[in-house]
Amino acid sequence: MQMDEDIKIGILALIILIFWLIAAPGVASLLYGLISGYFAYTGLNALTTSSTQAYLPGRRVQRREESIPQTSSAPITTELTIAERIRRVHIEKNFKCSNCGATIENATDRKCRHCDSVLVDMTALPQPEFWADVEIGQSVRVKHPKRGQIESQVVYRLYYGELWQEKMKKDVPWTLTGNYYTGLGLENSMYLLNWQSRFYLLVSQSPLTDMDINRDFAKYAREFAASNQTKTVIFTYHGNNWKMADIGRFRIEYSEGNGALAQPGAVGRFIHAKADDQILIVEDFQSGGSGRDTRWTGHEITKKDINL
Ligand SMILES: [Zn+2]
Repeated sequence: MQMDEDIKIGILALIILIFWLIAAPGVASLLYGLISGYFAYTGLNALTTSSTQAYLPGRRVQRREESIPQTSSAPITTELTIAERIRRVHIEKNFKCSNCGATIENATDRKCRHCDSVLVDMTALPQPEFWADVEIGQSVRVKHPKRGQIESQVVYRLYYGELWQEKMKKDVPWTLTGNYYTGLGLENSMYLLNWQSRFYLLVSQSPLTDMDINRDFAKYAREFAASNQTKTVIFTYHGNNWKMADIGRFRIEYSEGNGALAQPGAVGRFIHAKADDQILIVEDFQSGGSGRDTRWTGHEITKKDINL
């Protein structure tokens, strides 16, 4: 920490002031005393205000952030992911199919790739309300609000476990709510996402850096969080005015297929924002995990627009 210039001048001026008052009484010294007194005052003022950490502009910002609890550093549930539970079943059976004896290559395989027999009873594990039975390679028809009917195939699948905190405090762990949502990766980097009762068709994705997120979204997400998601928070991004719709936290519980931007165990935060009929989704993964920070754009659609 560097001592502020004003403080140094102030202390120096104060010493000179005291010296002059003792050693050189008289009119000339009174004048000098007034001048040095002024500097002593500004210096002391800086000294007292900086001790409350409000003087330096940089610290003032930090202080304001601290008024919203920094809950992102709170511990995450130690409950096993669905993927880990599947892996444990495979470990018990020594990674062998009990029907044909083939070796299980993928730790999250639900069915044997050789004989198609069921390896893991998924119904005994937590399941999302929608698309729990969707298979990789399955064809899907989606009604895009502008482009009309889109024919595609499911390329990969992700389960999101919704996380919550009982209290917004640093030492209160994030635990699973018991709600699971599915993301279906389609061809041409399209993504179908269900969250609560909402369905999104995301047609464009691009990577984000932590710097991008801090610059473009963090402030608004904090503002929205501080109001317990009740305040109308609007921000400009790429020429659109986006209105905050939902923010939250999740853990990737299960993944299947290739091409997903995160693997089981990755913990992230999301932002859902709306501009007219468009939707913007930011997925901000905790560093050190397997998730890649991504911005998605697309449309909110209804469940009946999706035929699987
Ligand atoms: Zn088999």
